[in-house]
Amino acid sequence: MNTSIMIVDDDDAIREMAEEFLKFTGYSTISTSSAEEAIEMLKLFQPDIILTDISMQGISGLELTRIVKQTHPVEVIVMTGYIAEHSYEEAIRAGASDFIFKPFRFEELHLRIKRVIREMNLKRQHDELIKKLEMLAITDGLTGLYNQRHFYQQLGSEIERTERYSTALCLLLLDIDYFKKFNDTWGHLEGDKVLMELGKMIKSCLRNMDSAYRYGGEEFTVILPETSIEKGCVVGERIRKVFESKSFFPARGKEIKSTISVGAAQLNQNESITSLIKRADMAMFKSKNNGRNRVTCDQ
Ligand code: GH3
Ligand code: MG
Ligand code: MG
Repeated sequence: MNTSIMIVDDDDAIREMAEEFLKFTGYSTISTSSAEEAIEMLKLFQPDIILTDISMQGISGLELTRIVKQTHPVEVIVMTGYIAEHSYEEAIRAGASDFIFKPFRFEELHLRIKRVIREMNLKRQHDELIKKLEMLAITDGLTGLYNQRHFYQQLGSEIERTERYSTALCLLLLDIDYFKKFNDTWGHLEGDKVLMELGKMIKSCLRNMDSAYRYGGEEFTVILPETSIEKGCVVGERIRKVFESKSFFPARGKEIKSTISVGAAQLNQNESITSLIKRADMAMFKSKNNGRNRVTCDQ
């Protein structure tokens, strides 16, 4: 990827020379003579690095560094000709990644830029890795849905949000019917395919704001924010129907249907997480007791 550099310096000669050199070296560049203009340009253009003079009319290079480091994922290298006035510590404290004295040799500038790019790439890789690890920690490996740990966290915050804005919240609990028999007959791997398919189907029936979780072995939950029990039951019924219509082929020539039992409950005022889950669970057990493959609403 071509690294882009924004040069900010009110000394025309230095700015133009630096820009020419950096362009020639293979960077894409943009330049301006004031920090104010640089801030305006940042609204349209996102450079990887800003190379800025410190002493400028108006906003100084150090102030510019402080501002952009708070608002943009950008690295800053500051330049100064006044050795006595500005220290390395000052620049680093403002958020700069490096510091260079003017007049500088272009080779030195290039080396410093290369080092900043290396660090920038390492930091980006590190951030991506952390993001991936965070995702892994809340994801169920088999279905790709969120896991139980994330379910409790999200349900907690959704309950808070529901109470704060006085809206409705509906919880669905879904459990595959006679799944032990399916596993015992066709094997665990075939059972896993059913779990994956159900995960996909649940997702396909939800809005963006809804979220689905693998709660346990063959049990799933769905959080439906801003949803009444009536609407929640419609969603549960949709998932039940879609799943029922799906055929599985666990062995040559064998077409098997699988079904789910669903329980739905709407959050009551001042209700705890455990109480809401318990009511959804009891509704799901009613579905089991009344013949399975159905949705029961706790009203
Ligand atoms: P019910 O209709 O009452 O829900 O009966 P059931 O057989 O579905 O319920 P039970 O709780 O007796 O059995 C659940 C089964 O789910 C047991 C286990 O073999 C299966 N199971 C749990 N986790 C997994 C998994 O990760 N993969 C597979 N293939 N099966 C699993
Ligand atoms: Mg179960
Ligand atoms: Mg079951």
